Amino acid sequence: MQDRFLVTGGAGYVGSHLVALLVERGADVVVLDNLRQGHRAAVPQGVRLIEGDVSDAQTLDGVLAEGPWSAVFHFAALSLVGESMREPMRYLLENGAGGVRLIDACIRHDVKKFILSSTANLFGEPERMPIDESARIDPSSPYGESKLMIERALRWADQVHGLRSACLRYFNAAGADPAGVLGEDHDPETHLIPLVIDAALGRRGALTVFGTDYPTPDGTCVRDYVHVTDLGEAHLCALGQLDHRSVTYNLGNGNGHSVRDVIASVERVLGRPVPVQFGNRRPGDPAALVASSALIQEETGWTPRFAELDTIVASAAAWRTAHPGGYGNMRSRQDCAALMK
Ligand code: UDP
Repeated sequence: MQDRFLVTGGAGYVGSHLVALLVERGADVVVLDNLRQGHRAAVPQGVRLIEGDVSDAQTLDGVLAEGPWSAVFHFAALSLVGESMREPMRYLLENGAGGVRLIDACIRHDVKKFILSSTANLFGEPERMPIDESARIDPSSPYGESKLMIERALRWADQVHGLRSACLRYFNAAGADPAGVLGEDHDPETHLIPLVIDAALGRRGALTVFGTDYPTPDGTCVRDYVHVTDLGEAHLCALGQLDHRSVTYNLGNGNGHSVRDVIASVERVLGRPVPVQFGNRRPGDPAALVASSALIQEETGWTPRFAELDTIVASAAAWRTAHPGGYGNMRSRQDCAALMK
């Protein structure tokens, strides 16, 4: 029987890359996305897009009632650490409580498998590096806290109701799909790699480096950048485990790169200098987050295909160069494909 998946937030950055992989594998996919950050053009032809909010109980019950679903993938979320430090209750309510309501609806509609887009932000300032799944949990922001709320709810959903789940804690999702059709387009853009690329391309002023006094080798924050297509494939690997049990995996490459390393990589890839200015630390930013993904590699055989920073940056740079306005007013993926020719 053909697999059927519901993907909340499937028009967004990571969600759309997963949807593309599911479609490639012949699945029937329905996307539920309010299009506040997502893009219609990121949803492939043939995939039904329901424009609606996961917090709208009527919409959610309506779509879940169309089951049976092979699994629900939950990406829809507010996702800005900085914003969450200014509006903590909004994050806890929309992401946290909203996620719990979605789980409740899944239980009522007899969904058996649930995959959560979670985050490294729930580790706070870690005691040791690389960070494995047993590391101490202490979210450094309400964003991380909101994802932890959902992880905790999933534990009880499994124990009491038998809903199997995979909590996938992404380190820094980055890059763009190798076919050049999908990419990263946030408004406002706050993520480092697209901002550095735009600064190099002269599309914005100097990049502000947030803090140069961190206890890291060059004083700037260290992150583990993981290619968005590799993340998508990790979801498929994790899904395979849910026939047997619930799982939690950290997803990264195990390589730490500082803000200065990212700037140097963009300069290498684009052959242009990046204008830079130095600013204060951004609230909520831990000094360093580097993943150990040994567990998912051992248990599922997941192997990142695009682990090198320059490869990740090159894919992001190719998409941003070809799509100066992001998805802009493109109506469909055909429009994007035409643009790539
Ligand atoms: N960063 C920066 N300048 C920017 C945006 C980000 O120096 O304009 C730094 C930020 O402090 C963090 C790293 O780049 O250490 C990655 O930030 P991003 O927002 O991409 O991801 P996060 O780690 O917050 O999820």
